[in-house]
Amino acid sequence: MNRMKVRFAPSPTGPLHIGGARSALFNYLIARHEQGQLVVRIEDTDLDRSRREYETEIIESLRWLGMDWEEGIDKGGENDPYRQTERLEMYQAYAQQLVESGHAYYCFCSEEELEKERLQLIEKGETPRYLGRCRSLSPAMQEEKSKAGIIPTIRFKVPENQVYVVNDLVRGQVTFESETVGDFIIMKSDGIPTYNFAVVIDDVLMGITHVVRAEEHLTNTPRQLMIYEALRFKRPEFAHISLILGNDRQKMSKRHGATSVIQYREKGYLPEALFNFLALLGWAPPGEEEILSQEQIITAFTLDRVSRSPAVFDIDKLNWFNQQYIKRLDIEELHTRLKPFIEKSPLASRFEALGNREHTFLMEAVHDRLVCLEDINEYLSVFLGEPVYEPEAVEVLNQEGVSEVLKYFAANLPEFEQPDEIKAYLKAIGKELKIKPREVFMPLRCALTGQMHGVDLHYLIGVWGKADTLKRLQAAQNKFNLD
Ligand code: GLU
Repeated sequence: MNRMKVRFAPSPTGPLHIGGARSALFNYLIARHEQGQLVVRIEDTDLDRSRREYETEIIESLRWLGMDWEEGIDKGGENDPYRQTERLEMYQAYAQQLVESGHAYYCFCSEEELEKERLQLIEKGETPRYLGRCRSLSPAMQEEKSKAGIIPTIRFKVPENQVYVVNDLVRGQVTFESETVGDFIIMKSDGIPTYNFAVVIDDVLMGITHVVRAEEHLTNTPRQLMIYEALRFKRPEFAHISLILGNDRQKMSKRHGATSVIQYREKGYLPEALFNFLALLGWAPPGEEEILSQEQIITAFTLDRVSRSPAVFDIDKLNWFNQQYIKRLDIEELHTRLKPFIEKSPLASRFEALGNREHTFLMEAVHDRLVCLEDINEYLSVFLGEPVYEPEAVEVLNQEGVSEVLKYFAANLPEFEQPDEIKAYLKAIGKELKIKPREVFMPLRCALTGQMHGVDLHYLIGVWGKADTLKRLQAAQNKFNLD
């Protein structure tokens, strides 16, 4: 058998959405699993909505997620060009061929006529479709209309009473009747092909063996099959993957939060976490384990484990995945990944002013707490900002015995190298003053940070150092008359 060749064919009419990323990923995974090839081609025939910026952003998102491809838009290859608007001559030539073989015809109907027909059919309760008014226009009539300045579209002549069957690799056998489909436009009057036409020509010319795409294109498939048949092209295999739903079982949309890959990147989801999570949106790994490396997923990925039922996008699960992946980074790598987020913080210069040792303490303190990398901002304000006092923290500071703890802490705080030494010191205070650990930690935490909860105190003190810790404490003591 020939090597498998698949493609991802985004329309650059917006950023890469989660659904698109999942389609791209499934193509990537199956190509890698089968040691086949992946093509990335740009379907930009919607001239009003297509933008180069989106194209660039889509490619960047795919690369960021960790995908690569053999042929395509930013890479070139034997089927160059990979942008449909640069392939118009090919579509025009095949459309011409279809007209000559009697499978397509020129249509001179105006927008108004088409709209009228559409409304009449709706009124009668029928599926709106083109009823074929221009199907049998005589050459003389055609000539006349052309002379009148009407530029025609080219319509495909849908065969009558035909049944089209697809053995979809995910959905099983799907049958379509040609009666439900009206003659459809393949070339618009401006010489631009429609999606259903261009997609077939490209898939054939690019040697695509398997079309793996979103379920919403299933209804387009019969039109495409008709074109394959009319041009006597061998059709590829099809696999339509299910919709992605939000937690409320509605189609995923902006209401469900971030929808584009860039938004997830900006929040600080790790690409490897999102990759793993997306792979599980509609595909079930053979074992119990869900945290899987790219290699493990590639090894296990087959279309027969792709589900027919819709996938549910569960943000809590993605958060959990991201946290697991962050936990697995070593401290140095964590620091590297956090850098772009720290640089954007208003406290960036204070962070930079810290030494390497303090950077490491800070990283150790947040390592197990970050859900997304952008959460670092919260922690930077605690470590490097001025304390903002929560009412509950103020209440704690007003309790009896608090000033003694603070005074004792300040008077005996030793010089230290490591946060562990502070940990031991805090423990010793409890013993010395015969109070519970909580009665040591809470007053100190509240005085030093203004908050009831947060990162371990010994890391905070470790980052501040002895002098700054005492300064902070003094400021709190003054503010709340705890001297
Ligand atoms: N350009 C289409 C889209 O973005 C691709 C459809 C297909 O894969 O055939 O939805």
